[in-house]
Amino acid sequence: MSRPIRPGAGFRSVVLTCAMAPTLAIAAPDPTPPTPSFESCRTDLINFAITQAVPQDLADAQLANLTPDPDVLAAATSQGEFVRPLWDYIEASINPARIEAGQRKLAEQAETFAAVEARYGVDRHILAAFWGVESSFGAVLDNPAVVKPVVRSLATLACGDPARAPYWRNELAAALQILAWNQAPLDRMPGGLTGSWAGAMGHTQFMPSVYQRDAVDFDGDGRRDIWTSVPDALASTAQYLRANGWKPDEGWGSEALLPGTFDAALADETTPRSLTAWRALGVRPARPSAFPDEAGEATLILPAGLRGPAFLLRPNFAVILRYNTALAYALTVALLSDRLRGDPGLVRDWPRGDRVLTSDERRDLQTRLMERGFATGGVDGKIGPKTRSALRAFQGSVGLPADGYADAALLERIRGTP
Ligand code: CA
Repeated sequence: MSRPIRPGAGFRSVVLTCAMAPTLAIAAPDPTPPTPSFESCRTDLINFAITQAVPQDLADAQLANLTPDPDVLAAATSQGEFVRPLWDYIEASINPARIEAGQRKLAEQAETFAAVEARYGVDRHILAAFWGVESSFGAVLDNPAVVKPVVRSLATLACGDPARAPYWRNELAAALQILAWNQAPLDRMPGGLTGSWAGAMGHTQFMPSVYQRDAVDFDGDGRRDIWTSVPDALASTAQYLRANGWKPDEGWGSEALLPGTFDAALADETTPRSLTAWRALGVRPARPSAFPDEAGEATLILPAGLRGPAFLLRPNFAVILRYNTALAYALTVALLSDRLRGDPGLVRDWPRGDRVLTSDERRDLQTRLMERGFATGGVDGKIGPKTRSALRAFQGSVGLPADGYADAALLERIRGTP
């Protein structure tokens, strides 16, 4: 796997875009107040850790001679400009090799999956999908090119990413607490406390604060070991999902099949309707087993517009988004879980001929929507819920299907509309 491990559980990433990692604002050359040097920042981090119950000798030993990791800052800053179609992202993670590996793991670890499922009520295929997307079922944990010392990565980010410094600083303190309280099985970890460039750790990529809150010792050896114990890692993931509201036996939803004529404005992402109500509108789930209860509510989304697949999302889909707030991420986990269960792929294909807008073009689109009185919530080059809502309003105002989908044709249309 060539890409870096992305930030995992609890990582407050950008909302609903294909860019999976946050766009980090590195200090401009001459801002006020000035960016502190790494040395003084490092001292501040030691002092902060001590206020968080980290023993001074441990904080000193971990931080006093630390140097920043330039690869971490490079990884953090390079992510935001990388734009590719939603379907490219999804299909990079859902391929025959990944599905086969997942089904093998489901068979090998059948007893563990059954026990975790029984204890937490989270479907094993969802858990396996997180495991596959986060670490290729643990394979990346053995890859020295992507595994890094967590303390150094988080200190680098805490001092090199002023816009999010408090977040990184808190995660660093949590990592130091893990070391201080001897919770990680360091005797089994030759690299020490390791994780992704953003500090996400173990088989399902927990941030340190998430580990502190939700990691569990499921195999009963006295350690919460998400790095080398598959039972601990899977149970911790299930615990995280339950703590964030996962409802047993509900699933995430299903691809939706639309009638030939359909008002795209109904797919507004936010209005839940019962399956009965959706059926009355001509919408039906491609996978009816995802709706054991006709009264169960779901929202409808059209992530690639009317010419792409539609999805009916149950409340559990929002819990997947708590793990990582990118729609591309959550759809990947959801659709991979279906494939691991043995369900077929999508009925309706993606609009593969469409050209994805660049970040500059997205900003141009947002600027033009704002100029015309459609509130996008800002001009940040990211197409999130507010921009899609503004797009739907614009589309409706000029007689286009209001599917909220930003493609090159739409940008041309708004450029030509006074
Ligand atoms: Ca354990």
